[in-house]
Amino acid sequence: MNALEEFRQSVGPHGPVAVVGGRTRWHLGGSIDPQARLITAPQGIEALDPSEMTVSLGAGTPLDMLDEALAEHGQEVALAGPPGATVGGALAVGHDSLRRRRIGSARDVLLQANYVDAQGELIKAGGPTVKNVTGYDLCRLLVGSLGTLGFFGSVILRTRPRPEITMWLSGPTKPECFLTEIYRPATILWDGKQTAVCLEGYQEDVEKQAQKLHALGLETSSDLCPMVLPPHRQRLNGGPLKNGTVADVGSSVLYGPQPAEAPETTPGVQRVVDRLRHQFDPEGRLNPGRNPQRMST
Ligand SMILES: Cc1cc2nc3c(=O)[nH]c(=O)nc-3n(C[C@H](O)[C@H](O)[C@H](O)COP(=O)(O)OP(=O)(O)OC[C@H]3O[C@@H](n4cnc5c(N)ncnc54)[C@H](O)[C@@H]3O)c2cc1C
Repeated sequence: MNALEEFRQSVGPHGPVAVVGGRTRWHLGGSIDPQARLITAPQGIEALDPSEMTVSLGAGTPLDMLDEALAEHGQEVALAGPPGATVGGALAVGHDSLRRRRIGSARDVLLQANYVDAQGELIKAGGPTVKNVTGYDLCRLLVGSLGTLGFFGSVILRTRPRPEITMWLSGPTKPECFLTEIYRPATILWDGKQTAVCLEGYQEDVEKQAQKLHALGLETSSDLCPMVLPPHRQRLNGGPLKNGTVADVGSSVLYGPQPAEAPETTPGVQRVVDRLRHQFDPEGRLNPGRNPQRMST
């Protein structure tokens, strides 16, 4: 029996069940019902095709392991997380990388998902090529759903070239002073007093962009982020930044020292969400207790 079939059987058709990754964001979206059986998704890279820029792997594979394998081919995927985080967990959480401006969003990474649904059946959504989706895009719906609609067993991800160099610059210049001056910075962080900018790509291009920023008062710092990010993600609402917070400019994400309330869901949206979840999982057996609407961002 292959690992995917074993995973399908471990989900089964009855009873509350929850899938565990590296537990780096385990409590996001509410606590799991203690009655739920805990299972894990298959691990390991099945096929890496650098020329097609795709990788096929078990959803329980640690992101570190994937990154190491892709690095050998000068490639990466637009998923990130702390040590131990898994591919399935990163997709289920769906937070974008800090480098989203350059590498795109977590939703764009997933080309094909082989997931197990609430009836215990294996479903294939999407396909290994970029342009083959017609109708509803199930992959995009599953990303960020915190495992409430189905459990990823194996996935095919889109890879991208790794940047030749990464350079961080920092200084007291406000982001609006250079936003139109430089081309696609990977990250811009602003804490109300200081800016940190990440440039990446080919060395020659990065150096040209850096010169423009030097002229505007920013200095090259290193190849690592010079700003310490507070631990809690929340939604960036206009107005002046509070002390101790850092805005990820252009992403509507704010990092703060304290956990924030999840944004309110309007009744209309909540009705759609409830109906959708009921259609996918009438008994509410997949990750019971989790609510993706309750994530703070
Ligand atoms: C310090 C820090 C930095 C981070 N930086 C980034 C970043 O730069 N970019 C980024 O994208 N993210 C980032 N993250 C978020 C990160 O992607 C997630 O924390 C992590 O990847 C979740 O993976 P996990 O394996 O630990 O999941 P867990 O914490 O184990 O689970 C999280 C949720 O995913 C569900 N889940 C796990 N596996 C599956 C599966 N196979 N199918 C369906 N649902 C599943 C779980 O049931 C649970 O609801 C960061 C997180 C931290 C703490």
